[in-house]
Amino acid sequence: MKRFDCGTLVPGCTWHARAEDQAEVVRRAVEHMRTAHGETIIRENMVDNIKERVKDEENV
Ligand SMILES: [Zn+2]
Repeated sequence: MKRFDCGTLVPGCTWHARAEDQAEVVRRAVEHMRTAHGETIIRENMVDNIKERVKDEENV
């Protein structure tokens, strides 16, 4: 599983995404940025910032 914690990019936000592959986590994170943080234009470096913060999570 891959995991992205929005708080690593937007301090104070507790939202996180989990998915089997990085692309899905990034897709959900971008969607969250749009809806929760009002980012109507997703810049290329934001996607990079998200990718850098996606981490592996062991299945429990
Ligand atoms: Zn957020």
